[in-house]
Amino acid sequence: MKNVTEIFGSLVFNDKVMRERLPQETYKALKRTIFHGEPLSENIADTVADAMKEWAIEHGATHYTHWFQPMTGITAEKHDSFISPTKDGRVIMEFTGKSLIKGEPDASSFPCGSLRATFEARGYTAWDPTSYAFIKDKSLYIPTAFWSYSGEVLDKKTPLLKSMQAINKQTMRILRLFGTSATNVNITVGAEQEYFLIDRNMFRKRPDLIYCGRTLFGAKPPKGQDLDDHYFGAIKPKISDFMCELDEKLWELGVFAKTKHNEVAPSQHEIAPVFTTANTATDHNQITMETLRTLADKHNLACLLHEKPFVGVNGSGKHLNWSMSTNKGRNLLEPGDTPEKNAQFLLFLTAIIKAVDLYQDLLRLSVSTAANDHRLGANEAPPAIVSIFLGNELTDILTAIETKSSFNQKAKLCLEVGVDTMPKLPKDTTDRNRTSPFAFTGNKFEFRMPGSSLNIASPIIVLNTIVADILSQFADQLEKTEDFTAELNNIIRDTIKNHKRIIFNGNNYSQEWIEEAKRRGLLNLKNTLEALPEFKKPKNLELFKRHNIFTEQEISSRQEILYANYCKTIHIEALTMLDMVKKGIVPAVISFSKELSELILNKKSLNMPVQDTLEKNLLDRISQLSFKLDDKINALEKAVSATNGEKNSHQSAKYYHDKIFLTMQELREIVDELETIVGKDYWPYPSYGDILYSVS
Ligand code: ADP
Ligand code: MG
Repeated sequence: MKNVTEIFGSLVFNDKVMRERLPQETYKALKRTIFHGEPLSENIADTVADAMKEWAIEHGATHYTHWFQPMTGITAEKHDSFISPTKDGRVIMEFTGKSLIKGEPDASSFPCGSLRATFEARGYTAWDPTSYAFIKDKSLYIPTAFWSYSGEVLDKKTPLLKSMQAINKQTMRILRLFGTSATNVNITVGAEQEYFLIDRNMFRKRPDLIYCGRTLFGAKPPKGQDLDDHYFGAIKPKISDFMCELDEKLWELGVFAKTKHNEVAPSQHEIAPVFTTANTATDHNQITMETLRTLADKHNLACLLHEKPFVGVNGSGKHLNWSMSTNKGRNLLEPGDTPEKNAQFLLFLTAIIKAVDLYQDLLRLSVSTAANDHRLGANEAPPAIVSIFLGNELTDILTAIETKSSFNQKAKLCLEVGVDTMPKLPKDTTDRNRTSPFAFTGNKFEFRMPGSSLNIASPIIVLNTIVADILSQFADQLEKTEDFTAELNNIIRDTIKNHKRIIFNGNNYSQEWIEEAKRRGLLNLKNTLEALPEFKKPKNLELFKRHNIFTEQEISSRQEILYANYCKTIHIEALTMLDMVKKGIVPAVISFSKELSELILNKKSLNMPVQDTLEKNLLDRISQLSFKLDDKINALEKAVSATNGEKNSHQSAKYYHDKIFLTMQELREIVDELETIVGKDYWPYPSYGDILYSVS
């Protein structure tokens, strides 16, 4: 193992490299671009490009690529070599400022939700200098934003950067009223990533894992996660080798990989980084997922990033830790210990409470996919209902502020915001409730609904925008007032009063909560199908427009893409299921039945009093199930072939949900029962037990 401090960031064109390799003037100009968004002149870009190229070549790179995040959920890259022919038939290595700043990939095959007619197939990528370039597999990766010829945004990075600007702007307005010395506010994010690692040979034998990322069949194994002995358990040597190399690879790429451990389900693990700026954290999470996948191959393993690879054991999520921090290093969600700091904290806290309450739908929507539908509300992950956990201490303080009463009955302590000091919050109690979808954990919020394969840009865009929106309302009020402290108290009190329904400290997995949430008027958008229409609610269209994040047209296109993804996911699953049943399971059932019937006949022909009850009972059970199996195969085939007749995307998605998905569930039930009775030698696919315990 190499020295960690030496390898860390060794493949990143980071600040240190820039300072060493760029002329001072160029370095300063680039910094102005990074921190203040000033445009980069062509001259400067040429110098930066040249330095980048020299550095990249020294590190073995031959190509460069504009690396972007289209609406596919994964990243995209097209590689060009640095070579440029000379007149005498040789080549030189060249990289211009123009190539660094702007690329023109063909955009026609990326999802655009009918934004762009195909004759305008051109798309543009533009360097995002706030995220460092890096080297991977002999290519220089340049993080870029991606948009269409006519200017519509086609990616996740552009709205993310816009939302960071929006929240920076509004938060600074508030901070100025409190007399800050900070000039900039950053969103900080740490994404805990869960994943499964299984034996590659098992993976290759399961078409459902190959095509869909999740198993479409599988009877419960004798042992699942029942004993809870995998969580934090000793890491197996093969997995440990993988994790060590993963850390090394991520460190080289400047990812702050920090924590690794076994998760609850067998074969499930987690990696968490130290938090960093939202934009970088998003890029880093994409790099982490990509590295997990490719490195697994090398170790003869397969990494499953699907939200629910196996029914009956926990699925995988991605906890999104989110906070706001000034360029002076102050975390704005740290309660602090002076009346001044407390007041500021309470204002930000109530802004978040109001934002989450008013835009529950958008938060829910930001994590909605066909895959995550299997997880949310399944008693292993937060429910589909959005609520906030604050812990009893903080909730008591808010109640006391709201009702102007004392928060400590014994000591009769009251709290005037901006004048008194809040009692210290015991740190350890803030993180107790693991069932909450959106929990305050001491000095940050932890959003636990995102699924393991999600690009975290989506929920971050929503969080940034909704909080920015409320902060702008608060700033409007506070900037006008003559009595700052009184107005502050009013805002905080009113906000708690009007939005406290979103606070829930109890068990989010319980049936009572579902009923209670309904009484409180909270949304329960059970699945993607129910969540998607919310995107175009007037209040949401206006919100995104107000902060210049999405135009109405861009929202329509994103909604279309989400609908299409939903339908396509289920479509592929249905086809895979039919293929596996018809080519693998039906023949297995027939062979096994044949063996049984032949045996029964043979026994009969012996003319001896031998028992054949076992075979007969088994054959009877199988023949009954085969009858049902045939029926469901036909039903699913019919349902799949009848698609495309729907009037619009929502109707289409509804058909996939109500008809195809449900028929798939019914078919699965029959197959899973058959798996428990058909002989193992006959069954064509590895069982859950084989897969989940495949790594020794
Ligand atoms: P747990 O498993 O208890 O939720 P972890 O330590 O695994 O906790 O993960 C916590 C995550 O929160 C880490 O990625 C950490 O860097 C991140 N985090 C801590 N402080 C902040 C902050 N101020 N802003 C954003 N993320 C943070
Ligand atoms: Mg967590």
